[in-house]
Order: sequence, then structure tokens, then C-alpha cells
Amino acid sequence: MLDTYKHKGLRKHLVTLVRNKGITDENVLSAIEKIPRHLFLDSSFTEFAYQDKPFPIGNGQTISQPYTVAFQSELLMIKKGDKVLEVGTGSGYQACVLLELGAKVFTIERQRALYMKTKEFLPTIGYRPRMFYGDGYAGLPAYAPFDKIIVTAGAPIIPEALKSQLKIGGILVVPVGDDIQTMISLVRKSETEFVQNEHGNFRFVPLLGDRVDEK
Ligand code: SAM
Repeated sequence: MLDTYKHKGLRKHLVTLVRNKGITDENVLSAIEKIPRHLFLDSSFTEFAYQDKPFPIGNGQTISQPYTVAFQSELLMIKKGDKVLEVGTGSGYQACVLLELGAKVFTIERQRALYMKTKEFLPTIGYRPRMFYGDGYAGLPAYAPFDKIIVTAGAPIIPEALKSQLKIGGILVVPVGDDIQTMISLVRKSETEFVQNEHGNFRFVPLLGDRVDEK
């Protein structure tokens, strides 16, 4: 499907909406302006792509609301070359925003059907994150440590494995809670010290898994 002037115009409008909601990071806003979000939805739903809303992507999952993607991306304070782990690939849209910000992206998805669909789709529009099928509760120990980690599903607790895979000075952004989540950012100050900040309430689909890391 094409990326037309109409789509580009709708994206400009979306950027204005997201900016008016408080996003100030120009690199994040440029990424949203550039990425053809309508191509991440089934073609019959393209008119919904540029509303600031989450949308079903199959398998009971959603592509996150653009404002939420922008908010989490801004909290990560991505620098070019940062090694970033995303838990919850879903449609791949958030991974593309991270790639546009200059990150090296490792993304993990728990549902095989979504993993396969997104792995096939992203290269067709020129995006190539490292993609993994597995349980994001465990992170990706073989590729750790990471400069930044983002979780894009609601976690009942902050998984210990993810904390341990963060570099010192690194940032973890994770929505924590059951029905409604509090957006939390953690900065790792040393082997054992983390500084935690809260950034308001959001609503995500839950993180799936055996929760083997729960402490
Ligand atoms: N980041 C996605 C995007 O840009 O489209 C949206 C993510 S969607 C809100 C949450 C995703 O997390 C779903 O695709 C879901 O299957 C996945 N997920 C849930 N539990 C997971 C787990 N334990 N490990 C990895 N992925 C998981």
C-alpha cells in the first residue's frame, strides 16, 4: 500500500495532537511524522491509523496509542547508538520509532503469530530491528547489558531480570500495575542502586508469561 500525500498530511496532524498533549522531544515527533503508521494496520482500518488511539492488531493485542509511544520514547532519552531492548514487539511500530531515533533495537515478542507477521512485514518498509520470539520477562541475557529497556505491556511487577540487564546509567521504562498501570522509569545508579520515578497512569494489555521472575 502507498504512502500518499493524504497520509503525510494526517501524520502532520497527529504530530500536532501529540505535541499539544505535552511531547517536546523533536526527534520523537520527527519519527512519528516519518513512519507510515497506516501500513501497520490491516488495510480495511487505515483511516484509524492517524487517530491518537490504540488499535487491535490481532491475537488480542493492540498497537499502542501514538501519544503513549511518544511518551515512553521520550522517557528513554535515546542517544544515537544506544542498545535498546523492547519487550512486546506487537506490530513493530514502537521498534521503528526507536530505530528512527538512532538506537540499535532488540525486540522480543511472546506470541508466535505476531512475531512471524511483524518479522515478515518490517523489512518490507525498510526497518530491521533484531527480532526474537520468547518471554520478555526474562529479557535477553545473551545480548545484555542494554543502555535502555522499554516494556510495552502492563507488568504486575518490575521484572528483576530486566533490572539486571540494564547498564549502569541506563534507563528502564515500564508500565506497572494490573488494570491501570503507573508509568515508571528506573535509572540504574550502581550495581545495586536504582532511582525510580512515576509518570502518571496508562492502560496497557497485560504482560503474558509464567512470571518466573516475580520476587
Ligand atoms: N510495542 C507494540 C507496538 O508498537 O505495536 C505494542 C505492544 S502491545 C501493547 C503488547 C505486546 O506485548 C503484545 O504484542 C504482546 O503479545 C506482547 N507481550 C505480552 N507479554 C509478553 C512477554 N512476556 N514477552 C514478550 N512480549 C509480550
